[in-house]
Amino acid sequence: MMKNNMRKKATVILLTICLLLSGLGIAPVMEAEAKTPIVICIDPGHGGTNGGAMYNGCWEKDLTLQIANAMYQELSLYEGVTVVMTRTADVDLSLEQRAQIAAASGADFLYSIHLNASPSHNLFGSEVWVSAYGNHYAKGMSFGNIALQQLSADVGVYPRGVKTKMNSRGTGDYYGVINNARLHGVTAAIIEHCHMDEAHDKDFYMKEGALQKLGKADATAVAKYYGLKSSALGVDYSSYQYVQYPNAKTPHVQDMTDPEVSQIELISYDKSSGRVQLYAKASDAQSRIIYYSYSGNGGATWSGLWGWAPAGGGYIELTLPEDSTGDLCIRVHNEYDRFTESNHIYLQ
Ligand SMILES: [Zn+2]
Repeated sequence: MMKNNMRKKATVILLTICLLLSGLGIAPVMEAEAKTPIVICIDPGHGGTNGGAMYNGCWEKDLTLQIANAMYQELSLYEGVTVVMTRTADVDLSLEQRAQIAAASGADFLYSIHLNASPSHNLFGSEVWVSAYGNHYAKGMSFGNIALQQLSADVGVYPRGVKTKMNSRGTGDYYGVINNARLHGVTAAIIEHCHMDEAHDKDFYMKEGALQKLGKADATAVAKYYGLKSSALGVDYSSYQYVQYPNAKTPHVQDMTDPEVSQIELISYDKSSGRVQLYAKASDAQSRIIYYSYSGNGGATWSGLWGWAPAGGGYIELTLPEDSTGDLCIRVHNEYDRFTESNHIYLQ
């Protein structure tokens, strides 16, 4: 029922675009829908009594539905794809039910739409969670990287990584929707668009039109992943190139260790202004370094997190905090939020 309503909406949009184009004297090319279009399933996270996170007066369950609707509308403008939603109203759905809907509709991929929050309220950016198993891993990683690139390019949200997480017994994927979908033979990914509880990310979900932008970026990522084209949008991703990950021969276990390298070297220090320039080196064999923070009092207190741009290392400029004792060190944080403290430099 809900699905049909959404279909109508998409048809209305398509018709509107056709009318607009014909008004301009441009005849849109309407391709007949392929006999076996790819089916994808969009899952707005939470719903009903399960509100998800709540910050700044926003319930996650409402935001996920708006992002999902925007994703649905945008994807409906592409040829050769059938889009299904797990819910279009504010209703409760179990993780198993979401996986069942995807499987029953013959979906190739289930995208579970979420927004994030962290216990320490200091993380920011977007992340994608994927299955640790076989070709679900390969598909998830390949799609996830396109999605983070698209969200970063279109919206400006910081890419935190595409990750796997196994349950503590090592017998399945930790996240229920991913695990249940896998057991039904469907690949699933959780897209955590941004953090609701961190100032960096506030505009990415609270600004006018922000949720629509997120949903549109998701749809573009899906279109790129499947090489879709849209005459309505005038785009063709059929030869779009992206990094294809291999299947996981054994489950791809998450990084459970701290970064191996975290080193700083003093480049310059201006005592009067407290400005310090460092050369910092960091690496981690299993995951990317994504943030750094610093302390001017030997690790008693720490700055907020900063994006770690350089691949292996680079210059960092900072101003010593007011409580500085001149004992300077940094922490480098990996994609799994594990960190390593650097050597200390004593400024005088
Ligand atoms: Zn959520």
